[in-house]
Amino acid sequence: MKENHLEKNRAWIEIDGNHLENNINELKKIIPQNVKIMAVVKANAYGHGLLLIAKKLSEIGIADFAVATLEEGIYLRQHHIKGNILILGFTQFHDLEYVIKYDLIQTIVDYDYSEKIRKLDLSEKLKCHIKIDTGMNRLGEKYSHLDRLYKIYENEKLNILGTFSHLCVADSSEKEDIVFTKNQIFRFDNCVRAIKEKGYDTGKLHLQSSYGVINYKGLHYDYVRVGILMYGINSSAQSYQLTRLNLKPVLSLKARVTSIHSIDRNELVSYGRTYIATEHRKIASVSIGYADGIPRNLSNKNMNVKIKGNYCHVIGRICMDQLLIDISDISNVKVGDEVTFIGEEKEIAATEVADKAGTITNELLSRLGSRLERIVIEKSKSSISGKTK
Ligand SMILES: *Cc1c(COP(=O)(O)O)cnc(C)c1O
Repeated sequence: MKENHLEKNRAWIEIDGNHLENNINELKKIIPQNVKIMAVVKANAYGHGLLLIAKKLSEIGIADFAVATLEEGIYLRQHHIKGNILILGFTQFHDLEYVIKYDLIQTIVDYDYSEKIRKLDLSEKLKCHIKIDTGMNRLGEKYSHLDRLYKIYENEKLNILGTFSHLCVADSSEKEDIVFTKNQIFRFDNCVRAIKEKGYDTGKLHLQSSYGVINYKGLHYDYVRVGILMYGINSSAQSYQLTRLNLKPVLSLKARVTSIHSIDRNELVSYGRTYIATEHRKIASVSIGYADGIPRNLSNKNMNVKIKGNYCHVIGRICMDQLLIDISDISNVKVGDEVTFIGEEKEIAATEVADKAGTITNELLSRLGSRLERIVIEKSKSSISGKTK
């Protein structure tokens, strides 16, 4: 469904391509020169729109991507995204032939996974990166199981292009967390050394994601895997940031005023009668709701929105497709006016919204609904390109 008159009709996301480029350049400033960025575009590029983001990144020279699922990888290939695409998650054995067909790279999640692949009849060797678990206990063969790790590197069905692990508290400034992270780094390095000493090729190495990059700057592997900071925002306002970068948020979330009315003292607003006016108020309905990713638990939490350069609050329960805002203090609001829910300003920053909702921006953004249109805005060029997934 792409009819021009439906553009920016109800609720939509604007993607600022220049901000994305700015963030990539800011990150490049602090990573060693020959370390490459692997752009993490899983979960619809953290809600930003997988293809829009991958295309823009390709344009600015990024050639390595990470996705969570096989489907995301296939989608990128079907839309002509070139370069390396690593699937960070598990792929079912009967689907591994698609990894080969679409020239993707599979993560080997542990020894058992490798052993099952060894028994498969694949059309060619499976391109893969080996995951080592250095303490998170999520995916990866445990760092201390060297014999099992060696057997993975001996697996003739695998074309091993890389080896990696994942830090799980690199965003914390707590002393014990820093000690833990340093220990993860130590475990990874020792493990890699042992594998190399056995004569195996580890391929490209990578360990850091966003907070590993800014808080453990001295490290020097082949890639850094960056997600949240590339999108120009912190996971939360409390995240540890040893290095401050001049990042700019890539995403804005907007919707339109659909109806304006006045209510008297003691009249209620929305489901559950949770908001009752204490005086005469002017309110507006806006065409966005929790199905679009505005958390319902932000109902009656003084969530800020921006309209005509002013801020006002969401009132009453947030509904599935609509919500209400109090526009009493703002003059000249008309049906059709734009309302911004997530944007650059502090009052409506993703970190503020996520914090009020009791979560992190990673969750808030990645849950933005599939119903939202995603539009690229190049502010300097003021061009608009089309809607995608
Ligand atoms: C999601 C993810 C990343 C990106 O993390 P950010 O904190 O968003 O940079 C990197 N590596 C792995 C394994 C991930 O799952």
